[in-house]
Parts: sequence; C-alpha cells; structure tokens
Amino acid sequence: MNSSFVNPSSIMSQPQPPAIQSLDLAEIEAALIARGQPKYRAQQVARWIYEKRALSFEAMTDLPAALRADLAQAFTFARLENLRVLGSRDTTQKFLFRLPDAALIESVLIPASPALYGEASDRRTICISSQVGCAYGCKFCASGLDGWSRNLSAGEIVGQFMEVERQSGERINNIVFMGMGEPLANFNNLMRAIEILNAPWGVGLGARHITISTSGLAPQIKMLAEQPKQLRLAISLHGATDAVREKIMPVNRKYPLAVLIEACEYFTARKKQRLTFEYILIEGVNDEPAHAADLARLVRLVRLVGAKVNCIPYNVVEGLEWKRPSEARQDAFMAVLENARVPATIRREKGHDIAAACGQLRRQTMAPA
Ligand code: SAH
Ligand code: SF4
Repeated sequence: MNSSFVNPSSIMSQPQPPAIQSLDLAEIEAALIARGQPKYRAQQVARWIYEKRALSFEAMTDLPAALRADLAQAFTFARLENLRVLGSRDTTQKFLFRLPDAALIESVLIPASPALYGEASDRRTICISSQVGCAYGCKFCASGLDGWSRNLSAGEIVGQFMEVERQSGERINNIVFMGMGEPLANFNNLMRAIEILNAPWGVGLGARHITISTSGLAPQIKMLAEQPKQLRLAISLHGATDAVREKIMPVNRKYPLAVLIEACEYFTARKKQRLTFEYILIEGVNDEPAHAADLARLVRLVRLVGAKVNCIPYNVVEGLEWKRPSEARQDAFMAVLENARVPATIRREKGHDIAAACGQLRRQTMAPA
C-alpha cells in the first residue's frame, strides 16, 4: 500500500470541529457574539479568510490573541492538501486534493481560450467537483465508474477555488460545476458554497460567472429556479429521445425527457434566462443527422426564453468502449442544427491528454506514489 495513504476510519473516529470556511457570515457573527465579541468581528474574520487569504486563525493579527486561540479550538481552519498538479499541453491544469478523511478529489483550471472567447478574453475557469464519486452512473462517464462515497461540504467546495488560486497564482473569474459528482444531488452544500463564492464578504464572484451542470434532476432544477441569484444552468442532455437517453443515462428513467423539459421551461420562464443543453457526440449512439433533428425539435420546446446547445465530441475514458465520431460526422450533425436555426456551438475539448476533460475525472482511492 502507498505510504501516503491514510486509513479513513482512524480519522473519522475523532470527529473534527466544523470548518470555519463552511460558515456563512450570519453564522460567523453568531459564533462571535456567543463569545462576547462585537458583530463587526465577523467581517474581520471573513476578510482574513477570503480577501487576505490567511492560512490560519493565528495569522488574523488584528483579532485579540485569546479570541484567535478560542476560534482555533472551536473550528478547524480547513485546507485542501494538494498532492499533485498535472499540466496539459494546452495549459489546462489538473489538481488532485486529499481531504481530511483521505478521500481524493480533482479540480481543473482552464485558462482563457482566445479561440473560444476572442483575443481579448481573460477568462480563467475552474471546474469544481461537488461529490466524491457519483451515484448517477452515466454509461460514458469516468466519475460514476466506482460509485459514490459522499457529498463535499461547502468548505471543501470553496476550498477548491481558494487552493487552485493559491497554487496557480491566477485570479479565477469563472466557475463551472462540471467536475466529479452531481451538484444538484448535494443541493444544500452547493447553495451554501455558492453563497460564500458570490457574497461581497466572501470571494465576491458574480453569479453570472457561476454555472451549475446537472444530469437532469427535475425537482432540484425547480428549486434552483426559486433562488434569487442569476446562476447559469447547463443540462447534460446527450439524448433527445427517451430511447436514446435511457440507454446511456439511467437518471432518465426517474426523470424522463417530458419531466425534464417541463422543469427546464419552468426555470427559464422564472429566471428569464437561457439555459444550455450539453450534448456529447458519441459515435453510433447519438450522432446521426436524425438525432440532430430530434435535438432541434426538443430545444424548440423551451423556446419561451430559449436554450442553446453545446456539443462536445466524446472524450475517451479508459476502460469504456465509446468513441468520438469523426470530424466529418460532427460537422454533419452541426449542419442539421444550423439549418434548423438552433443556436449551437461545438467545444473542442481541453485537457484531454491529462484526463482533465469533461467526464474524465475519476474517483480515486489511492494517492499517487
Ligand atoms: N454531474 C453533472 C456535472 C458533472 S459532468 C452532469 O452530469 O452534468 C460535466 C459534463 O461532462 C456533463 O455534461 C457530462 O455529461 C460530461 N461528460 C461526462 N463524460 C464525458 C466524456 N467522456 N466526454 C465528454 N463529456 C463528458
Ligand atoms: Fe455523474 Fe455527471 Fe458523470 Fe453522469 S455525467 S456519472 S451525473 S458526473
């Protein structure tokens, strides 16, 4: 066994205090008021964590020493342990983190892409994981291959952002929840993390720069529609008929397309905001021109506010037999969408060579040697 592997049960038998990074401002305030401190100290603590990027309570030098010691007793100051950074030829970087219970997760930093967003783009995107593993078992995806083990806490979700910024020295200005796991199956922690990422007292990133991707959990899509923030939503569609979608996405049996589309319409109508359908092109499964025609019909069903399609040529996953279609087949598929006047783009993937592209993040149980 790898020497850096820690037995999770030895850690879990000693429950840790909550992480300060999982608290919102009101909760930090409550913790300070309970210690006889003035309310404004909460802003001070938040500023140390999210603005000055302190790495311990000890570093918060304008707090009384006794309070710092007290906080260090009551809360952990969570840090993700970075085990490895892999760099891709296209400058995408993949970060492997170990959590306190020895679970391993990955985050991906995707630099600005002039080809995609124009020469002036300074977009730097982080792709964040929301769970350890995934319970949804889509047939084409590496993340679900070894099942689900747990939800990430809000602090662990925010921690990926903080640690990747620290390690890379980059300011990240765009977040996509397209890493390992189904974000909407971890709804409460996801919302708490987004509050911290979005709030002026926290990371301060605009809601429009945060995209949640879901395999189609219809009830949670409606719950998201009730949130006041203008978060962006991407739906992993991948099949435009129940027959095709069911073959590759077991979740379609629980929420068939009619139910999913109804939830999408609800979301767009309520938020007055377009959503994106993600559509992986897999050879011989969903990439025929007839499938494109089905897709065009489906997208029109949410025309009230509108939806656009983002096609992604399949990324190979070791151990799975699915294939990426030839460029000629991809072009033929896109031409059908274009003729039907469906707003659609095709994303030539990044980070393929380091298994950092969509669907290539796999649950790992062993730290690298
Ligand atoms: N669970 C969520 C978010 C994580 S997956 C979801 O499914 O939406 C992020 C995106 O990668 C999804 O659109 C997913 O369907 C896609 N994906 C999974 N495996 C892929 C692969 N091998 N090639 C390309 N995209 C893939
Ligand atoms: Fe889970 Fe999304 Fe992968 Fe499906 S595509 S197994 S929902 S991470």
